[in-house]
Amino acid sequence: MSEQTMPNWLDQRAFLTPERVALVTEDEILTFSELQKRTKEMASRLSSLGIQKDEHIAVYAKSSVEMVQMIHALSYLGAVGVMLNTRLTIEELVFQVTDSSCAYIIGEDSFKDTLKEIGKQTETPSLSFEELKGYQTVPSSMFEEVIMDAPYTILYTSGTTGSPKGVMLSYSNHWWSAVSSALNLGITEKDQWLAALPLFHVGGLSILMKSVIYGMPVHLHTSFDIEAVHDAIMNKGVTTVSVVSVMLDGLLDRLGSERYPANFRGMLLGGGPAPEVLLHKAAEKSVPVFQTYGMTETASQIVTLSPDYALDKIGSAGKPLFPAQLSIELDGKPTSAHEIGEIVVKGPMVTAGYYRRPETNEDTIQQGWLRTGDLGFKDEDGFLYVVDRRKDLIISGGENIYPAEIEGVLSSLEKVKEVGVVGKEDEKWGSVPVAFIVVREGMALTREDIAAFQKEHLASYKQPKEIYFVNHLPRNATNKLLRRELANWLKQRRNVQ
Ligand code: ATP
Ligand code: MG
Repeated sequence: MSEQTMPNWLDQRAFLTPERVALVTEDEILTFSELQKRTKEMASRLSSLGIQKDEHIAVYAKSSVEMVQMIHALSYLGAVGVMLNTRLTIEELVFQVTDSSCAYIIGEDSFKDTLKEIGKQTETPSLSFEELKGYQTVPSSMFEEVIMDAPYTILYTSGTTGSPKGVMLSYSNHWWSAVSSALNLGITEKDQWLAALPLFHVGGLSILMKSVIYGMPVHLHTSFDIEAVHDAIMNKGVTTVSVVSVMLDGLLDRLGSERYPANFRGMLLGGGPAPEVLLHKAAEKSVPVFQTYGMTETASQIVTLSPDYALDKIGSAGKPLFPAQLSIELDGKPTSAHEIGEIVVKGPMVTAGYYRRPETNEDTIQQGWLRTGDLGFKDEDGFLYVVDRRKDLIISGGENIYPAEIEGVLSSLEKVKEVGVVGKEDEKWGSVPVAFIVVREGMALTREDIAAFQKEHLASYKQPKEIYFVNHLPRNATNKLLRRELANWLKQRRNVQ
């Protein structure tokens, strides 16, 4: 069978709708035709630098027009983009560049020193976008087609449960992600999507793919600024924004008693659990929220809850997108409704595997089904509820305890700013939950207050047996809580008051 191809996405888009807006940034507005022209120029320079088909190129930049060009330029060369998180430490960056066998590291001018340092430590040529401009635009052959099964990007998982793994996503994965999302949300001529999530994260990168596939303008924000996002929705025609819960919370506070314009379609909320209070708050302000469940391995969302069900099915992440399937499994068998097991998913947006991790691939992907490592259940109507990470489950005297549930309850205490729960070894019970709490500034909270509150809201076996007050919680570069680091804190009794 011959391999499936498509016209290069940016070429095709620039051919079909050249004058449509592709990108809106603080400084400029670019049409698809303009973006294509600049991208081809960059691709040509990359080619004269020596970049070849199938080579892995690390990209180290915050969201910018150049970063967008870079991603599309790689498609003209048939090279694979390894998107580095700009918040990683040098050590973490070195690991990812080495692990993914990069041939070059290219990045933002302001990161010149870091680029040099990673280059030195990994013995990989590195250069900034500015330095790239020193290379000539030579007439070079560019691929006019993309091969659907070929890898396009490698994105590392956040490293919340272990060391980050390089997820290979093909053109086909990205295509189906964009198409599945459109089948779910629909597309209108008026749609404009705001990307404040970084492009090195799958939540941001998927917006860029949608832009070129749908022919839709993307408002590209370098960082999340509540005021700028609010203004873009109120005054600049943005209809959809991808957010994580802390962003949504900030935006709702900023909205106050105002209302978003009628053409605003909604917030695509993902990345982690959504607190119920937040969903009620959004409903009160008539802000439609599409709750989603997904991960790097599924090229962003794979399960989504439409706003019509936001309150009826509160806390649910919804149903699988049209081409996807969802199963909850316990001991290799599907569970019945409301029974908790591992979330297993299948669909054309699911990765073929992690780069250079044959054993993990064998364990996690079987006949196209991906074992997510997350626990959840389906209700009688097939709606998914995500419970927690499998690795973080606490088994206490034979009872299963989910740290996320306890965190959810304790964080509803007004004086609690952040909370993290882990299991601690216990002679009698095997393991017991303990909580780390960051108290809101200027507020006083005692262990007795917490004990009284949890007595009312949590079964006794779920009540944390020890409470530690701390100044901060350990988080990774995606701002996710690192419970394994909390477990280390316990062992070392460091940072613990
Ligand atoms: P690693 O795989 O390296 O441990 P990670 O899983 O945090 O890191 P990502 O791919 O960025 O890396 O995150 C995906 C994970 O985020 C999911 O597997 C899930 O645990 C969590 N998540 C995503 N959406 C939701 C949701 N709606 N509710 C609860 N958790 C969610
Ligand atoms: Mg993961």
